[in-house]
Amino acid sequence: MRNKEECSILADILFPDVVQTPEDMFNKYPKRNLNDDSMVLRFAPSPTGFLHIGTVYTGMICTILAKQSSGVSILRIEDTDKGREIENGISTIVNGLKDFGVYFDEGPIDTKEYHGVYGPYIQSQRLDIYKVFAKQMVKDGNAYPCFLSEEELEEMRVRQEEAGERTGCYGKWAVWREKGLEEVKERLDKGEKFVIRIYSTGNAENIFHTADLIKGNLTLHENDMDMVLLKSDGYPTYHFAHPIDDTLMGITHILRGDEWLPSQPLHRELFEKLGFKTLPYGHLSPLMKSDNGNRRKLSKRKDPEADVLYYIERGYPKDGIKEYLLNIANSNFYDWRIQNPNIKADEFVLKIEKMNKAGALFDIVKLNDTCKEYISRLNAQTVYDMSLDWAKNYNDGIAKLLEDNKEYCINILNIEREGEKIRKDMVKFEDVKNQLEIFFDELIPDYENISNRIDMDKQKMIVQKYLEVFNISENWFEDVRQLASTLGLSAGDVAMVLRVAITHRTKSPDLYQVIKVLGEEKVRERLEKYIS
Ligand code: GLU
Repeated sequence: MRNKEECSILADILFPDVVQTPEDMFNKYPKRNLNDDSMVLRFAPSPTGFLHIGTVYTGMICTILAKQSSGVSILRIEDTDKGREIENGISTIVNGLKDFGVYFDEGPIDTKEYHGVYGPYIQSQRLDIYKVFAKQMVKDGNAYPCFLSEEELEEMRVRQEEAGERTGCYGKWAVWREKGLEEVKERLDKGEKFVIRIYSTGNAENIFHTADLIKGNLTLHENDMDMVLLKSDGYPTYHFAHPIDDTLMGITHILRGDEWLPSQPLHRELFEKLGFKTLPYGHLSPLMKSDNGNRRKLSKRKDPEADVLYYIERGYPKDGIKEYLLNIANSNFYDWRIQNPNIKADEFVLKIEKMNKAGALFDIVKLNDTCKEYISRLNAQTVYDMSLDWAKNYNDGIAKLLEDNKEYCINILNIEREGEKIRKDMVKFEDVKNQLEIFFDELIPDYENISNRIDMDKQKMIVQKYLEVFNISENWFEDVRQLASTLGLSAGDVAMVLRVAITHRTKSPDLYQVIKVLGEEKVRERLEKYIS
């Protein structure tokens, strides 16, 4: 092992420009002044693809838990893997979450500005900070430069496999741990690329116990791998940025996807070697999908409904989706909703300990039902406003129709929205087209053919007779009944003929309410047209 002096010299050789110390960083980002039970949570997505519904799910959980505990929620963008980053990846996340009403107390506003005093909140803008800690790690003998090339690493892997040993850079295989300063200097002078690795002192045979906030008590093995902390491009790995950012930002609980659970031993060692206080972890299970009886992760590639845009384009009510996600997070949400139909979902108390341990099933059918219920609780004016918002972006024709016929459309949308029987056939605002259809001649579909049930002459006769008594009154159905008995027919058949004549369909909302909204003149016109 290198002695103290050598380590110190090595740190200066590797980071000649880094003059600040970890202490300077702690002075720059002082401790937060919050209640003991306030949670400071961060959500830390990488800008590597479209906005996944799982991103909204986790972001939502973070913001709610922070708010409930009078704490702080932070959005941090982890863009240290330049190879995987996509164009506009950052704005997709920042704007997408905001669109969904998932608001963070601190985080980027765009790629230049941010809210909060612990920023920047985009990791690629924090490279100087990571270098300060990397230098300290080298100085303390906890990290070292490694000049192994890709080819050498590959060769090593093959040799390890042949020898039946674990693969990776550890123990005797980590050859750059002990190389002399001269050799390091020589490589540096040649301009050779290097990474900084942790000098792990763990033993993979040792176990330790940890209490995960979600998964419960776990037994894990110590880390002994000399994992990369700083890459040759000067960017940190996730492993290195995680303890530094979470400590400097004053995070109290680390909630993250459970794909990171296997890395926890490394992170534990890093917290210790950096001299940081360890933080509790909660590993969230991913959203799953049932696929021919098998459960698998809801996938970016295979499942269109994984992309948030799927919902936005179709005009799903965002709060309806959030209610569904709340139910996935804590399955008692629906019971709470039934008991509290008129309260905002924000009032629901989300509990970490009630979170699903294994992987929650994401079911589009249930999501649709939840959105249906959600829209059924809105009043006609709100449905109108939200439908118009959607249509302005996705359907010009419907937008114009809504704008040009505001009163009329609100009346249409009010059908079966109040009183005993509430209409539940709108999942998303795209469905507004179906709701308006029968009220506009330019949208109304062709007549449904019922001549196999009642022949056309008879139908015409029914409509003819009805026209003679037609008026809009509460006793509407009484008139139908009387007419039916005069003609020796069933009231159901007569009503069906009238329904088709007026709405072109055999199924429609309550016909009396439809007639009221259409108005006497229009109804007469439709009845007459049916006969001709
Ligand atoms: N950037 C990591 C990811 O997207 C974040 C993990 C974490 O929350 O710590 O998976």
